[in-house]
This record gives sequence, C-alpha cells and structure tokens, in this order.
Amino acid sequence: MRQSLGRPKDGIISNSPNLKANNLNIEKIIKEIVNKPVNVKNDGMCAGIAEKEYGSLKNCNNGVFLGIGTGIGTAIFIGGKLEESIRSAGHMIIERDGRRCNCGKYGCFEAYASMKTLKTQVRERLMKEDLSSKQILELLQDRITLEHLDDIISEYIGYLAIGISNISRLCSAEILTIGGSFVYYKDILFDRLQSELDKIMLPMEKEMTKINLAELGNDAGIIGATLI
Ligand SMILES: [Zn+2]
Repeated sequence: MRQSLGRPKDGIISNSPNLKANNLNIEKIIKEIVNKPVNVKNDGMCAGIAEKEYGSLKNCNNGVFLGIGTGIGTAIFIGGKLEESIRSAGHMIIERDGRRCNCGKYGCFEAYASMKTLKTQVRERLMKEDLSSKQILELLQDRITLEHLDDIISEYIGYLAIGISNISRLCSAEILTIGGSFVYYKDILFDRLQSELDKIMLPMEKEMTKINLAELGNDAGIIGATLI
C-alpha cells in the first residue's frame, strides 16, 4: 500500500506539513520515553474510525470524516470499510495560484478552510496576534465583532463548502461528518455552511449527502486511537 501524506507507516511520519516532520520515527521516540508498545496512526483517520464505530457515521456504507483543525484530516469509508489508501483531502487544490500551503503547493483546501487559517485571518484583521482560540471564539460570539469579520467568515465558508461538495460527490457519501476544532465554533459556522451548501450543491447531491457534526466532538481522535 502506498503511504499518504502525513499518514505514518511502520511508525515513521514520512511528511507532515503541519508538524514540519520528515522521515521522523515517532514510534521509536515515544517508545523510548514510555517504555511500552506504541502504534502510530494518522489523527484524522483515528477520529474517523471512532465516528464510524460509535458516532455520526455509525450506520452508513459510504461516509466521509473531515477533521477540520490545524489542517484538514480525512477518513473515507466505502462499503462500510476504511479506505486507507485515499490521501487527505486537505491538499487538493481548490484555487488556482492560490495561497501557499504548508505542504509547498498553492491553493490547497486546507490553506483556505482549516480552522488555523480562519483564526490567522481573524488575528490579522483585529491586529491581535496573540489571541488564543478561546478568545477568538468569545469574540465571534459578539454580534458587532462578527459583523466586522463577516467578509472573512463568508470567504471561509465559501471555500469550505466547495471542498465538502467535491468530496461528498466523489465518494457518493451518505454522510459527511465534520470534526476537529470546528465543532467548538459550530454555533457560528454550521448554519452558514449549510446555507452555502444549499446554494452550490445540486438537489440530487443534497438528497444523497447529509452533513453533520462529530458526535464525539474533538475527542474523536483519542477514542479512535484506542480502537486500533
Ligand atoms: Zn497543501
């Protein structure tokens, strides 16, 4: 099986743009510290496995888990089985000559639709580089601040919807579940995302794919790791 970007094989991370790790034997390093057997898996995949076993993807055959956080992790299930050979959707290009991504390409999905991207843009607009994620969430709960940032949110939602629409169509997904730190911002972002998807997806696509949120929240990755 070919190894995907950021998906460890034999305990080695070959290339993780966000961790800035290349050919890092993380299994060996952790094993030396904890002195116990260690099994290394991609976090997005772990979260998807947990949602398939216990959460939002439980009863579907074709389903997609998108972990939207620092980057965008993906776990795709076809015929009820995890397709480990499908690479992460975070690095599919959705904008020609677009923003530079940590992976080195330009215009990647996660360069527009990760939570890290959204938070960076909020910090830049408000000229407060040291805002924590919690502070950004509190700021976005204020109606006047939210209006001030409306164009940023609108652009973010637009790109996120394009990516989701593409992935769900390609996989004939019955359910596409969004997890990662996006779930903390669900009250601000999820209704807007649904409205945007309503605009850009065909009626048959909307009928085919239900978009929901991770039932296990941002803990899905930890729970999934225990299942491996
Ligand atoms: Zn990329």
